[in-house]
Amino acid sequence: MPSSPDQIIRPEILALSAYHVPPASGMVKLDAMENPYSLPLELREEIAQLAASAPINRYPDASAASLKAALREALAIPDRMDIMLGNGSDEIIQIIALAFARPGAMLMSVEPAFVMFRMIATFTGMGYAGVPLKADFSLDMDAMLAAIARHQPVVIFIAYPNNPTGNLFDAEAVSRIIEAAPGVVVVDEAYHAFADASFMGKLAQYPNLLLMRTLSKLGLAGLRLGLLVGRSEWLIQLEKLRLPYNIGIVTQLIAEKVLQHCDILLQQAESIKIERAVMSERLTAMDGVKVFPTDANFILFRVTQLNEAGEVFQGLKNRGVLIKNLDGSHPLLKNCLRVTVGTPGENAQFLVALQALLKT
Ligand code: PMP
Repeated sequence: MPSSPDQIIRPEILALSAYHVPPASGMVKLDAMENPYSLPLELREEIAQLAASAPINRYPDASAASLKAALREALAIPDRMDIMLGNGSDEIIQIIALAFARPGAMLMSVEPAFVMFRMIATFTGMGYAGVPLKADFSLDMDAMLAAIARHQPVVIFIAYPNNPTGNLFDAEAVSRIIEAAPGVVVVDEAYHAFADASFMGKLAQYPNLLLMRTLSKLGLAGLRLGLLVGRSEWLIQLEKLRLPYNIGIVTQLIAEKVLQHCDILLQQAESIKIERAVMSERLTAMDGVKVFPTDANFILFRVTQLNEAGEVFQGLKNRGVLIKNLDGSHPLLKNCLRVTVGTPGENAQFLVALQALLKT
């Protein structure tokens, strides 16, 4: 008689809920921090040519050397640092956790943070410690340093800017965390394109610092390409856990091509930053809405008039606009919602729908 899943699968996996991706067909999709703009037609035609002639009968270049060279150039990665690629930065978080998951080892982050930090700790059998941020979503350094001393985490993930709050933490405070950490600190710069700050320049200074980036928010979410930058002594070990062909040939070719035109993506990011300012201002002007400062391509806001963010979320959905309801995910996010900055037209639809809801 075969055993049932609940007799065999680890209890902590049985207790998990899968990462939920809501259906979005036909909706104004402002829930997943995607770049709303497409690439110019000429570039898309070049991409079509590349895809048509790609040797998809062969395994891809396992080291993706050519793509890495393009990334090094486009992202100004220091010569002395190595690069490891992941199928999205999600996969890199998983590789790091797998490498550090000795029995009893702790992964630490702040709360609220990107949910995959906690989930991947569970996937890999690590302990997890999430240190609450202050009510204004800044780092609580006393709590952070005390938790580091208590838990001795082997790895700390800090998203800079943070998701879902959108803010950049104080750089000095992050440096103090790196200095106090007994293990590595991964600064996750997924939203770097929308912020004017980076720890790339600190890699040389801190031997326990690793830096993560992704092309997802820049406009290539569908390709799935994330990268880790750091010293070779760390990356040589982590590379052992990377599955040999994790980056497909089509991703390699297209990402390299688009990176040669990185200025287009950066211009799109600039437009998003301009729209972010417009949207923040309009949201701030609405009665019953509190807007939090953001350095990312999304805005966190709290509704103070209606009883529940759930009502706003559902009301927007009924009007064809999909955002993210964060109420219930953490006490600090009571009645909070997160909206990705889209095109001016999409943002206007969202704002009109929200305004209509708040008046009812
Ligand atoms: N880090 C942060 C902070 C994120 O918000 C996200 C995406 N939501 C990721 C990493 C993962 O991005 P991807 O796997 O698309 O590279």
